[in-house]
Amino acid sequence: MSYTIQGRTGDWELVVGLEVHAQVISKAKLFSGAATAFGADPNSQVSYVDAAFPGMLPVVNRFCVEQAVRTGLGLAAHINPVSRFDRKNYFYADLPQGYQISQFDHPIVGTGTIEIELADGSTRQIGVTRLHLEQDAGKSIHDQHPTKSLIDLNRAGVALMEIVSEPDIRSPEEAGAYLRKLRSILRYLGTCDGNMEEGSMRADVNVSVRKHGEPYRTRCEVKNVNSVRFVMQAIEAEAMRQVEIWESGGTVEQETRLFDPGRGETRSMRSKEDAHDYRYFPDPDLPPLVLDEAWIETLRANLPELPDAKKARFMREYGLSPYDAGVLVAEQATAQFYETVARGRDAKIAANWVTGDFFAALNRTGRSIEDPPVTATALGQLLDLMADGTINGRIAKDVFEAMVDTGKAPAAIVEEKGLRQVTDTGAIEAAVDAILAANAGKVAEYRGGKDKLFGFFVGQTMKAMAGKGNPALINETLKRKLAG
Ligand code: MN
Repeated sequence: MSYTIQGRTGDWELVVGLEVHAQVISKAKLFSGAATAFGADPNSQVSYVDAAFPGMLPVVNRFCVEQAVRTGLGLAAHINPVSRFDRKNYFYADLPQGYQISQFDHPIVGTGTIEIELADGSTRQIGVTRLHLEQDAGKSIHDQHPTKSLIDLNRAGVALMEIVSEPDIRSPEEAGAYLRKLRSILRYLGTCDGNMEEGSMRADVNVSVRKHGEPYRTRCEVKNVNSVRFVMQAIEAEAMRQVEIWESGGTVEQETRLFDPGRGETRSMRSKEDAHDYRYFPDPDLPPLVLDEAWIETLRANLPELPDAKKARFMREYGLSPYDAGVLVAEQATAQFYETVARGRDAKIAANWVTGDFFAALNRTGRSIEDPPVTATALGQLLDLMADGTINGRIAKDVFEAMVDTGKAPAAIVEEKGLRQVTDTGAIEAAVDAILAANAGKVAEYRGGKDKLFGFFVGQTMKAMAGKGNPALINETLKRKLAG
């Protein structure tokens, strides 16, 4: 089902392209040896190059180049063997050079694709136009002093990958799916941590609207949106604004806007510059970046298994639904956790436990998959106790809760609390007899045709056995006695 915006003059189609700035995971900056750790004291990670002292020369960081190439390979993109660094000239107080070193018409990575999955289970290919390397700027701080703005250059010169999509996105949901998928791929590759709160991934959102079948109309860019949810909200707000302008006879002007999450609206920041305003020209301090084909192939051969391939394998090897497989592969650590639990066990039961009780426990305890409240090994042991009949499924839920609370092994909890499943037919018969005797009226109703009461007898018997009865034996015994 396609997404449309209903206006007074009929339906409008949404057209969105995303430009994502992703901070490269690297200990040093793109053109200097200064550190990049988040949260350091202001201006403590600034080299003379970053501060643009006269005569300082940039030297490209090979590792950052490698990270960009690996990202390009992970996006199934064309790697350009020759690319170039250019100066993008503009003045800002947190940009001491007076220009940003970026890549203009010869980016390091060309066209690629990202496959997105939507809630209805369908998939779409979103085109990636390019990926280029560039420097981040410093940070201006306006709220620490009553009359002065402060500058922190720690971030100045940190390597960014700007990943530009084609205007292929047609709904807020698709934009969200694109960002989540891109973040997942970057995290698998270890090229960006995808942490939007710390600003290591930020999105510029290009939005326009048109009537179906029309060429593109003027777009506006909503700058620096820092969460998936805000991106989706910004798109909706901006699209509505544009529809209202067009429908009231006005014209949308190309401009850069900001999203205000508090008010749920975008507002104008500045009229949009064109590329020529920046006077791009090749940086004379940096030679063209020439990549060795054999080196690119080595990087390609050493890529990890990425989310799409892993999802396909989980569906094939473990018989999982596309949905379950998608949830389990979103994070590499989750996929690894699942595989440890599933190996040599019933893979679907393992998936249900990981995405059900285990995810709920992560939420409740506020812990992460890297530091889980129950290890994959321990969860596997719990599944084994169910598989060999030591405990039933109902008791397993209680044992799992006790594992979360105490950190003890499942077998120890079962012994300590006496939770072994009762499979002794004598004990089950005695419990069933007692329940039937105590509920003679209901037995008569059941025998008179009220089949639904069967569940009541099962529940009562299980309760009388403190949840430890073997469900299959209880069912069988009840059926036999109620028939007689
Ligand atoms: Mn940029």
